[in-house]
Amino acid sequence: MRAAQVRESFLKFFESKGHQIVPSAPMVVKNDPTLMFVNAGMNQFKDIFLGNISPSQKRVVNSQKCLRVSGKHNDLEEVGHDTYHHTMFEMLGNWSFGDYFKREAIDWAWEFLTLQLGIDPGKLYATIFEGDASDGVERDNEAFEAWANHLPAERILNGNKKDNFWEMGETGPCGPCSEIHIDLRDESARAEVVGKDLINADHPEVIEIWNLVFIQYNRKASGELSALPHKHVDTGMGFERLCRVLQNKSSNYDTDIFQPIIQQIAALTNVKYGHFEKSDVAMRVVADHIRTIAFAIADGQLPSNNKAGYVIRRILRRAVRYAYTFLEVRKPFLSGLLPALINTMGDAYPELKAQQELMDKVIHEEEESFLRTLATGISLLDKIIKETIESEYKIVDGKVAFELYDTFGFPLDLTELILKEKGLVVDRRAFEAEMAAQKMRARNATAIETDDWVVLKDDDEEEFIGYDYLQANVYITKYRKVKLKNKEQFQLVFNITPFYAESGGQTGDSGFIENEAEKVPIIDTKKENNLIVHIATRLPKNLNSGFRAVVDAHKRQNTANNHTATHLLHSALKKVLGAHVEQKGSLVHPDYLRFDFSHFQKVSDEELRRVEQLVNADIRANHPIKEHREMPLERAREMGAMALFGEKYGDLVRTIGFGDSVELCGGTHVAATGEIGFFRLLSEGSVSAGIRRVEAVTGERAEELIDNQSDMIKQLMNLFKSNSDLRKNIESLIGENTYLSKQTDTMKQYLMKMEKRSLLDGARNVSGIKIVSGTVKPVLSGDLKDLAFQLRNEVEGPMVAVLGGEAYGKAQIAVILSEALIETDGLNAVEIIRAIAGEIQGGGGGQPFFASAGGKNPAGVEKAIAQAVSIVERKLG
Ligand code: ATP
Ligand code: MG
Repeated sequence: MRAAQVRESFLKFFESKGHQIVPSAPMVVKNDPTLMFVNAGMNQFKDIFLGNISPSQKRVVNSQKCLRVSGKHNDLEEVGHDTYHHTMFEMLGNWSFGDYFKREAIDWAWEFLTLQLGIDPGKLYATIFEGDASDGVERDNEAFEAWANHLPAERILNGNKKDNFWEMGETGPCGPCSEIHIDLRDESARAEVVGKDLINADHPEVIEIWNLVFIQYNRKASGELSALPHKHVDTGMGFERLCRVLQNKSSNYDTDIFQPIIQQIAALTNVKYGHFEKSDVAMRVVADHIRTIAFAIADGQLPSNNKAGYVIRRILRRAVRYAYTFLEVRKPFLSGLLPALINTMGDAYPELKAQQELMDKVIHEEEESFLRTLATGISLLDKIIKETIESEYKIVDGKVAFELYDTFGFPLDLTELILKEKGLVVDRRAFEAEMAAQKMRARNATAIETDDWVVLKDDDEEEFIGYDYLQANVYITKYRKVKLKNKEQFQLVFNITPFYAESGGQTGDSGFIENEAEKVPIIDTKKENNLIVHIATRLPKNLNSGFRAVVDAHKRQNTANNHTATHLLHSALKKVLGAHVEQKGSLVHPDYLRFDFSHFQKVSDEELRRVEQLVNADIRANHPIKEHREMPLERAREMGAMALFGEKYGDLVRTIGFGDSVELCGGTHVAATGEIGFFRLLSEGSVSAGIRRVEAVTGERAEELIDNQSDMIKQLMNLFKSNSDLRKNIESLIGENTYLSKQTDTMKQYLMKMEKRSLLDGARNVSGIKIVSGTVKPVLSGDLKDLAFQLRNEVEGPMVAVLGGEAYGKAQIAVILSEALIETDGLNAVEIIRAIAGEIQGGGGGQPFFASAGGKNPAGVEKAIAQAVSIVERKLG
């Protein structure tokens, strides 16, 4: 059974049991401060479990792209070394939201695996939760009974809290779970050790394939459990592991999901798979990581220097490193794996096909630049190795290893590997201490403590009315305290709210809530999943009274100007640059807007001007907004609405149209484009390979920009007597300047000649050695070195020159001498300079044949020269 068929049969099986098939959510998480990437199928349904929204379907089924490389679930270090953990994998799941529970979930799982797919029931085991006294939860007898209908009791195992009690996080929905494991060993191995002893013991052939989670409790911040009003089923089965079972392979990497990629790696590197453990690991790492990188970019997450982008960058670098060390790869090759990946996954995930060009560019450039860093790191390491060996040490400082790790992306194992070849080791304790210190710094910077919600009024869903109103009478339904690094804030939730929460790149609203007794500022509004959270620095005194909630209308208007202008800009960019332009990031702030998009070269000045003209024409046309709040997604697509990759859309979407631009958008906009007033681009540049960024201003800020520019022009005009033509004036000034500096140069050459002649005329002979000394004209004092070397060239025979001068109130002196005198007469320019520098209140240095000094006291120059001459005479005499 091919992978695509396996996925299909899972979806179809649960569809036949009344489940609705839903698409995977994007892998990159937005609007959830606790999570960067989707790490389980349940993430996209979190709001349902939390009771923030009610589900539109009670039974759904899907395959979800997951990534486990950070936070609570981090499998990164296993990947490649074992054969069944991936960074990115697909999780097949069936869901019950307050509908069926343990019995059906277990019966259907069994039916699907054994009857539908024909897996040998004799190889399957189930685990159930053994109970936990401190939580007051007893053994999951309900699950046991359900399993007992299918499995003999000795293959239903008790599991502890770590393996069999699932929690979303520190707090929130949780419950017992029941895992299905499979023993894939051959008969003789099974006869030797019973499978039961190998469950959850990291055996490569006795693995977990499916986890059925029964969500029935809520964990409070106090640690206590309370029963949930609605019970849910959340299951997750590893798609790649299931394919491996069905294709009878001993490794996920031997399935048709990975083999085409591995074959391509083999072709590009000339290394065969299955011959050496080290290169096999590297090939698995690369095959795994290219999927993660490609899917992340397709979902809009480019490699970058922080947060989610940094995680992706590190994964890419990890792939490069393994390929560098174990596959001898020295040139970018990862993007060459994309065709193989797209061939196997492109049908199920069309976003891969759509964005192939962008992925290719981004990956190539990242890899190229990291290979350069890698080379620098390796030569640094070579230097350290040399120094360590020379000083007859065997141990390399852990700090050095940490620096390599931190700046050059060298993990400790790579550093150790290279050192080992030279018989050296790293001081691991020092390395770990550095690592711990860095983690501590990071933790302190982001530590947040969140209290439990205090519920004041039961209210299912908070309604957002901010598209139509900027003020409303509200009451607080719940609130909680949040402790950030050194300040305390309060998060308030209302029954209804006119406040727009930061999302889709648009800044959150601010404003205040008030009643007769008081007025409390709202400094920001954020989304936590679907909950709109108003941030206040203090709590109102009477939490239960009604409030008037008032949005800062001026800030909102400026923000709306920028948001609508962003849509006009997007559409203008497509018209001017081409249909390949895709939004890759957007920030809508009251003061400016920023827009990132895919485009493969610099945008020229003419193109930028054309974009501005199109946007301003749209503004003058005063297009009224065409808004549909609840349009079926399919219809919106037919209308040509621009939907973004990596965004999650419900069945009903909001569309926003102005003129011929139509976008799916949840933001706030102007009523007609004329309100924007005026649009001006501020800058254009590159963010990373294939991605450009423009910044722009509108309305008041655009006016300010133009005012400042025209003020500057006026001031410049005022600098010229005739202010008829500024450009001509400046051009002639530049011309004059070039002419004058040429003239000064000629004059200087001439002066230099004269100065040399007079210095040579005044030179004296001491014991057959020519001594040239004196001060030079101020225009030449910057050229003392030049002058000194010219003199030495021109004098035949041994010579010493001591020169001084003054420029811009500073003293300069220089000493030059024939190299022969260093040996024969013990003269040294540096020594002389040091001895006389005090006279000019300064210091300097150089080499034995030439040295110079600068100082604060020009009055001392003459004396310094005289002193230098007498030092020379003493030595020679
Ligand atoms: P394991 O103990 O094998 O790491 P887990 O307990 O972390 O698994 P769950 O969080 O219960 O797994 O996830 C549900 C299913 O997803 C697992 O039964 C497994 O089949 C699959 N799965 C989990 N992690 C990975 C991974 N890193 N790569 C591939 N599949 C995975
Ligand atoms: Mg795990």
